[in-house]
Amino acid sequence: MSRVYNFSAGPATLPEPVLEQARDELLSWQNCGLSVLEMSHRGEHFSALAEALEADLRELLSVPQDYRILFLQGGATAQFSLIPQNILGDKTKACYVSTGFWSEKAAEYAGCHCQVTVSASSKNEGFRSIPANADWSIDQNAAYLHYTANETINGVEFFSVPDSHGLPLVSDMSSNILTQQIDVARFGLIYAGAQKNMGPAGVTVVIINNELLARARDAKVAPVFNYASQAQHMSLLNTPPTFNWYLTGLVLKWTKSQGGVAAFEQLSAKKSARLYQAIDQSSLYINTISPACRSRMNIPFTLADTALEPNFLAQAEASGLVGLKGHRLAGGLRASLYNAMPVQGVMALIDFMAEFERVH
Ligand SMILES: *Cc1c(COP(=O)(O)O)cnc(C)c1O
Repeated sequence: MSRVYNFSAGPATLPEPVLEQARDELLSWQNCGLSVLEMSHRGEHFSALAEALEADLRELLSVPQDYRILFLQGGATAQFSLIPQNILGDKTKACYVSTGFWSEKAAEYAGCHCQVTVSASSKNEGFRSIPANADWSIDQNAAYLHYTANETINGVEFFSVPDSHGLPLVSDMSSNILTQQIDVARFGLIYAGAQKNMGPAGVTVVIINNELLARARDAKVAPVFNYASQAQHMSLLNTPPTFNWYLTGLVLKWTKSQGGVAAFEQLSAKKSARLYQAIDQSSLYINTISPACRSRMNIPFTLADTALEPNFLAQAEASGLVGLKGHRLAGGLRASLYNAMPVQGVMALIDFMAEFERVH
């Protein structure tokens, strides 16, 4: 069976060469006579894999030496709770910028562990824009400032790193990591689930500077959830999801082979610009996000005649274009254009949309 174009928001499409390699070496990895699924996470082969995983991510994002990279479980959602538990230090407050579903959720979960200050919110405008950074109210007594770099459901993305007025900056980059060149040194902590741009579900990356790591050392949180103890054990405090690490490693190698983050930054701009142009030129498709912060990754849209949406989805699927249904809370439609989505997939979607509009 031929493969379809998968526009799902996550778990998302993976590079075909990665899937092929994983298939080809599933039964015997690196001539070991056993699968990577079956081997000890403490053995020499897996240790080499773990080292390469970290080294490749460090290289792709130019992560400075005074930052540690952790590979954890529980998804970005676990981090919503673990971040305050690990890095509050002697503070009791944290600042959150609210730009959509995921940042609201992050703030809600943090609220169980500290006093949350909402520094800015675009809720009253239906999360269609990002509040001007200059207007954010930042509490100097807060432990950190949190924002969501790309709102996967609302389709809103930051294109520059906000000024945090001296607070350590914490960012959820689950849905746009490896798609935009970033200066990691501007951040105290970056986290991201792998299942959008980096690999399969089950791996969560946390990039943390030594200053915040020192706060975690005294945090009262179980060792598997403690950043300092995980850092000390190279994220191997207990058995990691070994196959997911392996697949993430393959995706990172593929990302490097395609020209790294700079290449995907350009490609993302090109792919999303084409789809937005098609939407804006049509009278059937609607995207209401403020143009300055339209996400390159997740493009939500509706049909002027919403009754046509089930029909749109069914016909798209019949044409080999899947995963276009909007989030269950947002409704409508959504196309996710992560790194592994080729330009041809986007062009196929645009052609389908034009034909659907012509017929209807
Ligand atoms: C997908 C996503 C999450 C949730 O990830 P889980 O792995 O389901 O916990 C959180 N934040 C953002 C920005 C996401 O895109």
